[in-house]
Amino acid sequence: MKALFLEDVGKLALRDIEKPVPKADELLIRIEACGICGTDRHLFLGEFPSKPPVTPGHEFVGVIEAVGRDVTDFEPGMRVTGDPNIACGHCAECQRGRVNLCANLQAIGIHRNGGFADYAVLPHKQAHLLPSSLNPLHGAFCEPLACCLHGVDLAKLKAGSSAIVIGGGVIGLLVVQLARLAGATDVVLITRNVEKRQLSEKLGATATLDPSSGGDVVEQVTGSSGLLPGGADVVFECAGLRQTVEEAPFLARRGGMAIILGVLPQGEKAEIEPFDLLFREVALVTSFLNPFTHRRAAELIASGMIVVKPLISRTIGLEEAAGVISNPAIAGEIRTLVVPQH
Ligand code: NAP
Repeated sequence: MKALFLEDVGKLALRDIEKPVPKADELLIRIEACGICGTDRHLFLGEFPSKPPVTPGHEFVGVIEAVGRDVTDFEPGMRVTGDPNIACGHCAECQRGRVNLCANLQAIGIHRNGGFADYAVLPHKQAHLLPSSLNPLHGAFCEPLACCLHGVDLAKLKAGSSAIVIGGGVIGLLVVQLARLAGATDVVLITRNVEKRQLSEKLGATATLDPSSGGDVVEQVTGSSGLLPGGADVVFECAGLRQTVEEAPFLARRGGMAIILGVLPQGEKAEIEPFDLLFREVALVTSFLNPFTHRRAAELIASGMIVVKPLISRTIGLEEAAGVISNPAIAGEIRTLVVPQH
């Protein structure tokens, strides 16, 4: 079979290797699609720690080809999505139920071989069933959706709440939809690209703003004649930039919340104004990974309640993956999926 390997920082190569044999508790998955996430580019650039040589790809969907001898809950032919984040279950954080903070967290596609390959192995406890009638490409969005679900869970939105989403990539466009599903009546998306703004309105955003059009973003949204005077109940930062992290708390209303989902490079600093946080009692919260949300994500994708088809910018074969991962995303691109040609 073919598998893409990160051989070292800055070095990706497609190799012909033996098909893996699932261990007693594992499934062998024939990969149908695997999304290229910003993290894959960070791994290539050495901006995110990994264990080369390793096959990247943590947003995968596929059909079970074989099961290990102890697996009783899945059988060959079933379509599954894999939760790539494997918690140990024993450390203090796992025992507190904070599995995303596990001291021994192992991620498929980072520490273990992932989905940019014809086949991958997956511990059965990390697998979640998807309908065989589902467009397999849609299954590749379960992992990012699971991360967004955690952020939206933390927001505790109520019917009639308001939300601002900063950044119209996959994460922002999924959060827009989840915020509406959770009951928000006003959802403002702030992003530069006009196609992403137009798409977000089809997906549930009630207003949009181009932050590059000039003027103060906070004033344009929260000012008395702004899009959401006084600010939002919850602001979701989904761009991963210093400027947008700094902006987020100021876009929240008095007593509101700013939730940071975006990832800034390790070591990068952003300024906050504690006086403003305190006097307006704005909560600054972070949301990391997908604790116990992957199954709900699979159910939301399977039900069609979350729309992902327009988030697919293009599909490519395994042969093209190294070239795409080693270059920055094309302007306007939302998600590229790698589809192995079996
Ligand atoms: P992405 O495609 O890079 O999306 C970020 C978007 O931000 C871009 O599409 C860009 O769209 C927009 N943007 C750039 N400058 C902006 C500005 N000044 N104001 C508003 N928007 C701006 O990435 P993604 O896959 O959606 O992921 C978003 C972030 O979440 C990344 O940092 C990623 O690492 C992180 N993430 C976190 C988790 C977690 O568990 N917390 C999980 C997955 C991903 P325009 O060109 O339209 O502006």
